[in-house]
Amino acid sequence: MPMTSPMPAHNPQTLPQIVVGAGLNGLMVADHLRTNGPVIVLEAADRCGGLLGSFDFGTHGRFDHGTHIFAETGEAALDAYLQGLLPSEQWVQLRGHRRNFAGLVFNGHVQHHTLYPDLTSLPTDQYQACLDGLPVNDLGSESAPNALEYLERRYGSEIAKSVGVPIVEGFAKAPAADLSPLVTRLCPLDRLALFDGPTTMQKLGDPEISRRMAFVDQRELPESEQSPLASFYPRTRGIGQAVEALEQRLVDAGVDIRTGVRIENLDPTDFGVELTMQDGTVLAAAHVYWTANPLTMAGPAGVAVDYSMMDRPLTAVLCHLVLDEAPGLGDVHYLQVADAEYSTYRYTNYDAFCPEGHQTGVPITVELLVDEPGDPTALLEVALTEMAAIGITDGAPAVQFSAVNVLPYGFPRPTLANMAAISKVRNALADAVGDTVTMLGIGSRDDLFFMTDVLLASFVHVTQHQSATVGR
Ligand SMILES: Cc1cc2nc3c(=O)[nH]c(=O)nc-3n(C[C@H](O)[C@H](O)[C@H](O)COP(=O)(O)OP(=O)(O)OC[C@H]3O[C@@H](n4cnc5c(N)ncnc54)[C@H](O)[C@@H]3O)c2cc1C
Repeated sequence: MPMTSPMPAHNPQTLPQIVVGAGLNGLMVADHLRTNGPVIVLEAADRCGGLLGSFDFGTHGRFDHGTHIFAETGEAALDAYLQGLLPSEQWVQLRGHRRNFAGLVFNGHVQHHTLYPDLTSLPTDQYQACLDGLPVNDLGSESAPNALEYLERRYGSEIAKSVGVPIVEGFAKAPAADLSPLVTRLCPLDRLALFDGPTTMQKLGDPEISRRMAFVDQRELPESEQSPLASFYPRTRGIGQAVEALEQRLVDAGVDIRTGVRIENLDPTDFGVELTMQDGTVLAAAHVYWTANPLTMAGPAGVAVDYSMMDRPLTAVLCHLVLDEAPGLGDVHYLQVADAEYSTYRYTNYDAFCPEGHQTGVPITVELLVDEPGDPTALLEVALTEMAAIGITDGAPAVQFSAVNVLPYGFPRPTLANMAAISKVRNALADAVGDTVTMLGIGSRDDLFFMTDVLLASFVHVTQHQSATVGR
């Protein structure tokens, strides 16, 4: 039965701070807040970790939510904090050209040499037309209002039309003119392999070209072009181990972590915030840090969301496999799929970055992006059939183990309609909850999606602006 009696008066000094969402972001926020007093973490799922959690399949080992490898942010304190989640000997450090070592299925080719579309694989006439249309300078792609204009300003209309638009539209299932330029970071199209090796070396001296040009073979990336930042991943498979270690640290420190909760109401009060759970429990908090998608705060805060104005998320499916034999992923950490005819978005090749990943067989995760959830057996069949069609296996692979997970929240589509709707909801939330709630994480700002950006924004907030208010 819900409690109906008014809450007694509270002293904000002694009230807990509440963190909503126990992904890595929420747990990291809680870890920083706990030095100031009591903290409660509220998580909707039945366990912590969010997208940085791993699935533990016993003797088959752990599998991640697709490719999730930590990357240093350049903020030394945050990088040290993340590396401190596990003892140093439990991390593998990936440096130099192996920092982000990835391939792409583009134009019917499995590229092990670069993650970016390699235009030199196009038919000669088309390739020449692309180069002829390449503007000497980037014509302001950074301020482009949509993905189509981003591609045209950065690469000219021929490359936009014949390379970029089919990729972004195949990925997001919406016209390029209706997509945010953010989609070009997801695909990714912020660079292109424009030239063969020797020409690429010559063009390095031309800053206008080189900032749009990918090195055609990542293995030959000169040291001068390599990032000083590293990536890191647990030595034994499963990024979730880092989150589990953090969860244990919080439990040991007395942080109250509650999983499987549903927040029904969020009401600003004189002393802070009152949260009412589905089971009627009422929690009083001095302040709330909402690290889940802001859309999930709308209902509890009484803010209406017009979902008819939004584009539905794509269904994200994880097919975890242990294969008898290594598929043709080479030594890349992951292989992304740009060709629009496939539902496969990405292959995670654990053996390439995690040396002690398994005992027998070859573990991979195949991520599919589909319109409808469908039956897991049929989804697995799609994953296996496409491996053969793409050419990384010779026919259907021999499978020792398989498991399929359909992600509850899907993959947010980076459409302009969604960006506008979320921005409107953020503003309405700011009016509804004032400075009693701080939004952090994906959706709290238009530019936050990638793990590194999300963690950096939250880290800066909790270390520098703990008393800041909900942003508009
Ligand atoms: C399919 C997919 C692939 C991705 N691939 C990459 C990638 O390759 N590289 C990269 O950098 N980033 C990637 N990302 C983004 C990356 O996963 C996020 O940046 C990162 O997980 C953010 O961490 P978080 O803790 O903020 O969010 P999450 O990990 O999403 O955690 C949020 C938590 O909040 C909980 N929650 C949700 N609603 C509520 C509620 N109402 N009440 C209480 N709890 C709630 C959820 O259950 C979850 O545990 C990907 C995202 C998706 C969806």
